[in-house]
Amino acid sequence: MKQAAAAQAVDMLIVGAGFAGLYMLLKARRLGLRALVIETAPSVGGTWYHNRYPGARVDIQSMEYSFSFDEALQQEWQWSERYAPQPELLRYANHVADRFGLRDGIRLGTRMSGARFDEAERRWTVRSEDGDCWSARFLVMASGPLSSPNLPDFAGLKDFAGPVYHTADWPHEPVDFGGRRVAVVGTGSSAVQAIPIIAGQAAELTVFQRTAAYAAPAHNAPLDRQLEARIKADYAGFRARNRRMHGGFGSLLPPNPVSALAVSAEEREAAFEARWKIGGFAILGAFNDLLLNPQSNAFVAEFVRGKIRTIVKDPATAALLCPTHTIGCKRLCVDSGYYESFNRPNVRLVDISQAPIERFTATGLRSGGREFGFDALVLATGFDAMTGTMMRLDLRGRGGLPIQQKWHAGPLNYLGLGIAGFPNLFNIAGPGSTSAFTNVIVAIEQHVDWIADCVAHLDRHGLSTIEATAAAEAAWAEHVDAAARRTVFLSCNSWYLGANVPGKPRMFMPLAGGFPQYAERCAQVARNGYEGFALA
Ligand SMILES: Cc1cc2nc3c(=O)[nH]c(=O)nc-3n(C[C@H](O)[C@H](O)[C@H](O)COP(=O)(O)OP(=O)(O)OC[C@H]3O[C@@H](n4cnc5c(N)ncnc54)[C@H](O)[C@@H]3O)c2cc1C
Repeated sequence: MKQAAAAQAVDMLIVGAGFAGLYMLLKARRLGLRALVIETAPSVGGTWYHNRYPGARVDIQSMEYSFSFDEALQQEWQWSERYAPQPELLRYANHVADRFGLRDGIRLGTRMSGARFDEAERRWTVRSEDGDCWSARFLVMASGPLSSPNLPDFAGLKDFAGPVYHTADWPHEPVDFGGRRVAVVGTGSSAVQAIPIIAGQAAELTVFQRTAAYAAPAHNAPLDRQLEARIKADYAGFRARNRRMHGGFGSLLPPNPVSALAVSAEEREAAFEARWKIGGFAILGAFNDLLLNPQSNAFVAEFVRGKIRTIVKDPATAALLCPTHTIGCKRLCVDSGYYESFNRPNVRLVDISQAPIERFTATGLRSGGREFGFDALVLATGFDAMTGTMMRLDLRGRGGLPIQQKWHAGPLNYLGLGIAGFPNLFNIAGPGSTSAFTNVIVAIEQHVDWIADCVAHLDRHGLSTIEATAAAEAAWAEHVDAAARRTVFLSCNSWYLGANVPGKPRMFMPLAGGFPQYAERCAQVARNGYEGFALA
């Protein structure tokens, strides 16, 4: 560790150089602010830098999962596939950094260790692990909703003699599974994407499953150039229509405005079948109450289970792969050959729901009194989502209040953007906002635009700080909770609830209320002079 340096003054310190940090830097510069991004990784790209496991790709179509803020950018960039793979998304992030001349405002290889709000100066003092220090008027946490890998405390993991990979921290050199016996622990989104590729390389693949996953086929393919041309002919209109959709995407195929209970069984099946053929999240829009009404949800869940039973030839394996929870209460996975992988002779599924992993050994693991041998281990164990990254920091607000104390019972904030006791700190795409239920780039653009407008407002009015009030924050927590209660999202153990991380407080973290309503609420708060915030 270097000697503590004198603080360098900036107007805005932005943590993270993923899509949120890149766009925030651009907007801050356009406001004339001296802004600096610090980023742990040696590259921009965030999620798409870290998650380079085989099969990693976006689950929202690329014509939608991309920036809309610049017409020339969206016209000139050409995606190769309907769902872009990780290397292409990383190239896109780099292209954005170059095209908008952002690189000289980004300090790579620099991890923020903590920050403290100085009440007399009304500024944040931010420190890096290397001992660098900045004094910033605004602190923007663009540090990602899914950026802290979850590594369960498995007994004996260190004893395992072979290589261990985490999907969210994949090596940069190619990993060759050829001829090897591989184990994958976890069956969430990353595993669902990685398993078909690993299955095709490994001599043997053993998948350890705690909870079965629902996956809908991506039907990925080279991007349809006619569709691309149609969208690009009016990209602004397309983006605007998407922003009016519940999740900020999907305007080409709006949800059917009819309850699943209002039609005959034959009509329901036909609607599910039609949307299964389209792929991705389309199926959850086959009716308007699939994520609201448990009875409607049960119909689509059974439809997908029927698909699993048809695809997977071995009835016992198919039964294990059939989830029993409500569909959509964990983010639906979008797959390319996931269930089909289990028809391969070299792939086996091990249910660890009743007999959890007891311990790892030098040659494999033990579960339910059985020994399983393998040469390489892939942990697809997800993330300490939404709060994990901030909770690992020494982040202190007024009176030295640590974020761990503030959020001991779950993440409290107002609009997902500001935290009482933490003035001039903004959080992008985190808890309390709709980000996790949206096309996250749409959510990021809305947050960044709101923050930039807010900073401009403060400057126009000669104000130095903005801080959420405790009352607004408490009301917002109730609003987030009430929105979740109107859905099926509380019916299973998901990362939305913090249930995947032992000891994490159970609180439903994202806002299930719909992106357009949320964005309008944020805009209304701004129009009303930032009501619910104290300005000084
Ligand atoms: C495998 C995977 C697939 C996904 N697929 C989709 C999808 O299909 N559609 C969708 O909408 N969303 C998807 N997401 C969500 C995705 O995280 C967002 O779409 C988006 O990339 C988030 O961008 P961001 O800039 O907010 O955060 P990130 O991309 O996570 O960037 C945050 C950056 O902050 C850095 N950072 C964190 N802490 C510190 C610190 N203390 N100091 C310095 N730097 C720090 C991290 O290194 C990281 O680079 C996916 C996420 C994952 C993990």
